[in-house]
Amino acid sequence: MFNAIEQAVKYQTLIDQPEIHLALKRLDLIHPQISGNKFYKLKYNLQYAKQLGLDTIITFGGAFSNHIAATAYAADYFGFKSIGIIRGEELAQQRLNHTLTTASQFGMQLEFISRQDYRNKNQADFLVELQRRFPKAYIIPEGGTNTLAIQGCTEILTDADRQNYDVICCAVGTGGTLTGLIEASNSHQTVMGFSALKGDFLKQDIANLTEKSNWNIRDDYCFGGYAKTSPLLIEFIHGFEEQYQIPLEPIYTGKMLFGILDLIKHHYFAPNTRILAIHSGGLQGRQNLL
Ligand SMILES: *Cc1c(COP(=O)(O)O)cnc(C)c1O
Repeated sequence: MFNAIEQAVKYQTLIDQPEIHLALKRLDLIHPQISGNKFYKLKYNLQYAKQLGLDTIITFGGAFSNHIAATAYAADYFGFKSIGIIRGEELAQQRLNHTLTTASQFGMQLEFISRQDYRNKNQADFLVELQRRFPKAYIIPEGGTNTLAIQGCTEILTDADRQNYDVICCAVGTGGTLTGLIEASNSHQTVMGFSALKGDFLKQDIANLTEKSNWNIRDDYCFGGYAKTSPLLIEFIHGFEEQYQIPLEPIYTGKMLFGILDLIKHHYFAPNTRILAIHSGGLQGRQNLL
């Protein structure tokens, strides 16, 4: 199934001028539920969980998490039970939003925990206790980023992508996808991350994950922080969708493309630069927000 699914990926040229070439790699077309980068992040994790003979996938996320929706679907598809530990105990009393409704339709059992408890999600004693309660579960961290996820994300780039482009751009949440792209890139390429979150901490996180230095990450197009938007961003997304007939969403891909096109406008890139932007999917969350 994994190999068949990847055939859906397409390239679409957005700008083709003598001084700049910009193409979009449409990972959003992979699958309506396990779309985009989440497909690559889950791939080896689910294979490994099967090898270990486990029957449940447990993971973490907020109410709008594309990773939660993708994991619910993929776990179900591969015959696992799934449990989503969701940030915010108040949500248990509310009507589920689109993302959580989708997740529960695919059989994910949702556990709502307080923001305070959620902060411990990576701590050893929290994880040991969780594993004790669910001994046959495979635990995937928030956003799905771990070593196997990064390995999966190296497969986003093909040999042709390494040959044909000078700059690779992607949206960044936890940095797993960016790290996979960095690992897969040629040293003459620059990998640029557009952070969906405010702050410098991701730079250090990614530096800890790779020894390469042909990359950078910026947060000046995050529009104030994770899941924050503005009328300007929403207007940009609607305009882009109309012009190119390509759907975006405001948390990741909308911000990245706003940033790339703004940098092009300000002549940030050297003449004749060939840019490949990764459309990392996430469209399931579009209905929550646009
Ligand atoms: C999750 C997600 C990202 C961020 O991926 P990371 O590996 O966590 O950096 C980017 N784009 C979309 C659409 C996503 O759903």
